[in-house]
Amino acid sequence: MSEKYDDLYCIRHTAAHVLAQAVLEFYPEAKLGIGPPVGEGFYYDFDLGADENGRARTFSPDDLPKLEKRMRQIIAGKHPLIYQEVRTEEAQQRFADQPYKLELIEELAAGQVDEYGNEVDEPVVISTYRQNGFEDLCRGPHVAHTGQIPVKGLKLMSIAGAYWRGDEKRPMLQRIYGTAWRNKKELKQYLQMLEEAKARDHRKLGRELEIFILDEDVGPGLPLWLPNGNIMREELEKLAKEVESRAGYVRVATPHIAKEELYIKSGHLDYYLEDMYAPSESGGSRYYLKPMNCPFHHKIFASKPRSYRDLPLRLAEYGMVYRYEQSGTLFGLLRVRAAQQNDAHIYCSEEQFEQEFMAVMDLYRFYFKLFGIEKYVMRFSKHSPKKLGIKYIDNPRLWQKTERMVREAMVNGDVPFVEEADEAAFYGPKIDVQIWSAIGREFSLATNQVDFAQPLRLGLTYTDANGQEQTPLCIHRAPLGSHERFIGFLIEHYAGNFPIWLAPEQVRVIPITDRHNQYAANLASVLQDAEIRAQVDISSSRMQAKIRQAQAMKVPYMLIVGDEEVRNGTVSVRQRDGSQQNDLPLVAFMADVKEKILMRTAIL
Ligand SMILES: [Zn+2]
Ligand SMILES: [Zn+2]
Repeated sequence: MSEKYDDLYCIRHTAAHVLAQAVLEFYPEAKLGIGPPVGEGFYYDFDLGADENGRARTFSPDDLPKLEKRMRQIIAGKHPLIYQEVRTEEAQQRFADQPYKLELIEELAAGQVDEYGNEVDEPVVISTYRQNGFEDLCRGPHVAHTGQIPVKGLKLMSIAGAYWRGDEKRPMLQRIYGTAWRNKKELKQYLQMLEEAKARDHRKLGRELEIFILDEDVGPGLPLWLPNGNIMREELEKLAKEVESRAGYVRVATPHIAKEELYIKSGHLDYYLEDMYAPSESGGSRYYLKPMNCPFHHKIFASKPRSYRDLPLRLAEYGMVYRYEQSGTLFGLLRVRAAQQNDAHIYCSEEQFEQEFMAVMDLYRFYFKLFGIEKYVMRFSKHSPKKLGIKYIDNPRLWQKTERMVREAMVNGDVPFVEEADEAAFYGPKIDVQIWSAIGREFSLATNQVDFAQPLRLGLTYTDANGQEQTPLCIHRAPLGSHERFIGFLIEHYAGNFPIWLAPEQVRVIPITDRHNQYAANLASVLQDAEIRAQVDISSSRMQAKIRQAQAMKVPYMLIVGDEEVRNGTVSVRQRDGSQQNDLPLVAFMADVKEKILMRTAIL
């Protein structure tokens, strides 16, 4: 049994079946969708039919305790889970009144999907699991009997709407989420983590710290950056520019739209159209918002004859991209329709590939260290031979070759990774990077991709040392992802307590009384002249209220100034964590802050 199917997987999987049984007892006419284990728990989707007014029936929050209670009874019954393989017709008979299951059975029989509707390469056996009279389409694995689900580790969490098979055009089903753990302690830890995650939610903190907003009139998935958020963007760009300049990148800039012809040549219209905004027409040409920066960079590569001496050529741009993500998947800054990417394309020969590819992996690791990202997983995403010409450029030889090159580079570079089929980009294999925030929430961040297809399609060439024309390989990479996703991550990772170099406001000067306003204002402008982001609070609030407010905005340093400080030309420093240092010479404070900003230190 692989790691994927560990004891928790079996517990959660079985809990999903028990949930479905309980729901059918309360709602006998319910139609079953799918119910897989996911992340830290499981879910099950149900179609509850229509009420007397023809509206789709929904669960009410009162249902959850009722269902949970019934689940506990079923668990206590220690009902064995019985596996059975069935022929297609037999399966169709058993699930005759379950239209969603029938749809899956048909595809299962054709060998296209597993029982959750996920596409698969191998032929699938149709099988069911049965417990206590309830039968579900399933290939397992499960625990041996329901009594092996730890009752004290189980909890139903929430109800949500979810389109059947994630498709906006299909019916909206009712999804119940649950979680299941080995014992009460594990459940408690998980619930605490959720509480903490809620407090750190980037949508909540993003509004409170005035980082970004979303506006109905602007459109879903199109964030507006407020001044504080924009400072963070600029700091990240500054970081990327420094790092990339040291690594031999040059910078370019490209427009946000381009003619259809470009995307025909690049392959985007054949393989990526679904994710693109609809075109607009002007002057007899059709224009698309760009979903990726690559075709533009390829044109820059092709803007003059290239020789092997020009390679590797590394073109970088913090480029905007627009992707028409399904509205149901949009989520704060983490899934948006407009994003500015830490993008670059590296054109190189095959001989240079491994070194360039690993240099990119080193960049990732440098950033992870800088941001204190301790847990991450590299996933090697490969193509699926069955989908050549549909989802992937039809060139089996180059797929095999580039996948071999990536695997070798990762193995030689001693980078741990997992392999996954059918997750590649349409133009080549890639490494996807998952990272975990300080409290253990998972984010998918960035990719490092190989492209053999676009350079070929766009006719990119260089002359090698023997005077022969060659097609370069292209590496697409975006270690800091997009501003949107990365800042969304950083907000939750730091709970808004950004290291000082990233903090939108670094110092707030707070006078003790009105008498000290002038001194405080002067102090702020001295700091500003030293390129420290400082503000002064000369509002009519009382000092304690001003301190509370600065704390709420998570400003790293407060300088409290009164008679003593005016007399001695000193400052009293109150840090975000509450610690305090009195009567510090201003120059000493400034030198310390400047040093921390310059070194991008993690602590304050
Ligand atoms: Zn199952
Ligand atoms: Zn690209």
